Amino acid sequence: MVEIKTDAALEAMREAGRVVGQALAAVREAAGVGVSLRDLDATARTVLTKAGARSPFLGYRPSFASTPFPAVICTSVNDAVVHGVPTDYRLRDGDLVSIDCGAELDGWTGDAAISFTVGTPRPADLDLIDATQEALDAGIAAATVGHRIGDISHAIGAVARSARCGMPADFGGHGIGRRMHEDPSVPNRGRPGRGFPLRHGLALAIEPMLMAGGRDDYRTGADGWTLLTTDGSRAAHIEHTVAITEEGPRILTLP
Ligand code: MG
Ligand code: MG
Repeated sequence: MVEIKTDAALEAMREAGRVVGQALAAVREAAGVGVSLRDLDATARTVLTKAGARSPFLGYRPSFASTPFPAVICTSVNDAVVHGVPTDYRLRDGDLVSIDCGAELDGWTGDAAISFTVGTPRPADLDLIDATQEALDAGIAAATVGHRIGDISHAIGAVARSARCGMPADFGGHGIGRRMHEDPSVPNRGRPGRGFPLRHGLALAIEPMLMAGGRDDYRTGADGWTLLTTDGSRAAHIEHTVAITEEGPRILTLP
């Protein structure tokens, strides 16, 4: 079932989203060569705790997972696409990192992700991050009243295709509100003019995941969580929670 939010609910979601944006900014600030993924999780945890927010990631156990998620952020490095589990791994020069974070505040949820490089970047990684950002921007631009979910999906897919990047077929964006994952799903490819109609008050997490090798398949790591490219190529993942409004798309997860 799709829940259309009141304007008051969207305001509350903006506050939850602000905490997510602040946590991601703090993680990015803390990240550097030699910093461990667990350190980054601790950084995000501090921001959530200070804001009085709960983590929808911690203890989360969707159908594909055999164990509850043990952290408040996903840390996906290099060939990891999404759902990376924070470990004692210390970031190295040239790593490409994607951080996904959620927060629940006063019963409402925000969900967002960023990708960035550590130390001296590989030019190809910067291109991949740019393409992923462009895909997200195109998806958000299509998130307007009168469009349908397929218009968002198509916009994202077109950018990924022109960048010759693959995208994992089974994962994409989603409705969001009282819970992190709600209906409708927001696939990263699709046909324009199809799917659920976009209305004022609909809130969506839009999240392109681009794999530089161009393949759409993926494998799951030994931890049962981390989604990895099958060809060892690098991946980027950028996400915002966005409200569809009569005034246009409103990003809810900026700091
Ligand atoms: Mg997310
Ligand atoms: Mg999401």
